Amino acid sequence: MKQLSDLFEVLHDDGGSAPAAEPTSVVCPKCGSLWWTYYGKTPDGRQKFKCKEPHCRHPFTAEPRGRRIDEKTKRVVLRMLGEGIPPRKIIKFVPDIKLRWIYELKRRVKNDR
Ligand SMILES: [Zn+2]
Repeated sequence: MKQLSDLFEVLHDDGGSAPAAEPTSVVCPKCGSLWWTYYGKTPDGRQKFKCKEPHCRHPFTAEPRGRRIDEKTKRVVLRMLGEGIPPRKIIKFVPDIKLRWIYELKRRVKNDR
């Protein structure tokens, strides 16, 4: 889809920042919009974005394609799940991950048993 990638280039050619993530893999986790701007970096060096939808303006960090989450985060979340903490509370402690991901992990743990 060459046309689509051209469109993305136009869409994101407003900030002048060097792209750190593949634009096509980045969507706003809150509203699903592809209309965002680069928004600095996290302390651990990951690219931050900010949704440009007027009704949203949600700042977020992009998950790499394939949604790889580091083992430390995974362990922490697994432990919280093991202690019966609801996903909606976990996400407050671990803000980098998506609620959907926690549910997915929870389901996977259940299936393992
Ligand atoms: Zn948004």
